[in-house]
Amino acid sequence: MTSWSISETENKLTIQVKTQNIQAVCPICNSTSDIVHSNYQRSLLDVSWGNYQVCLKLSTRKLFCSNSNCERRIFTQRLPKIAAPWARRTERLNIQLIKVGLAQGGLPGSRLTQHLGVKISRQTLLRLVMKMPLPSHPVPKVLGVDDWAYRKRHTYGTILVDLETRQPIDLLSDRTATTLAEWLQEHPGVEIISRDRAKAYKEGASRGCPEAIQIADRFHLLQNLAQMLEVVLNQHRTLLKNVEDETNNCPIIEDQKVVAQPKQSRNGSH
Ligand SMILES: [Zn+2]
Repeated sequence: MTSWSISETENKLTIQVKTQNIQAVCPICNSTSDIVHSNYQRSLLDVSWGNYQVCLKLSTRKLFCSNSNCERRIFTQRLPKIAAPWARRTERLNIQLIKVGLAQGGLPGSRLTQHLGVKISRQTLLRLVMKMPLPSHPVPKVLGVDDWAYRKRHTYGTILVDLETRQPIDLLSDRTATTLAEWLQEHPGVEIISRDRAKAYKEGASRGCPEAIQIADRFHLLQNLAQMLEVVLNQHRTLLKNVEDETNNCPIIEDQKVVAQPKQSRNGSH
């Protein structure tokens, strides 16, 4: 750090900092160079200090590549632990914003960050979240397959879930047999596939992973059972109404007497 200043009107802390290393590595050929071409300054937003927005004025260098065969003659000094090339925010601020975006979503997250000393639009917040690399998952032994709606009653995709870890592991662009079969062929090792009873998933699982055991998932079994019960009970609506009426008209005084007798017996009154 070389100097700093605070603006109370803007709630902003500006810190002048300078890179220490004279040498830098060319990003194209990896040759080390200390031949300075020029100095230049970058502005980077950093994590806030209290209610103050923090701006780093970073002095760094451009260098000539020492390798005469390299296609890059001049390169800028890289600071991978601090910020990506041409980035306007530090990596640690990006990580903080991604966590806000994941917890809050676009608009609420954007509103929250303003109270934390960082102004960022909801679109930028969502872009940061969407640029995150996807976590890698091992191929699950027990795979759950179900559809999900991009837009209900119009467009559907397929969600794949590791049922042992209860983690979603992939989204497929549609719910066709071919797409599921291709995924299973590219990810061998699934032993059990839990699915609904739609024809497409049955075909996809059979083509993509014929050795896997296919089972109907509990949600769809219960859903089918409930639908069937409704149909059956509707057929006997009149009979059920008669039973209900008889039950409502039945006196309950006799029941209370029956309940009272075992209590006397347990207390040893006989
Ligand atoms: Zn080079």
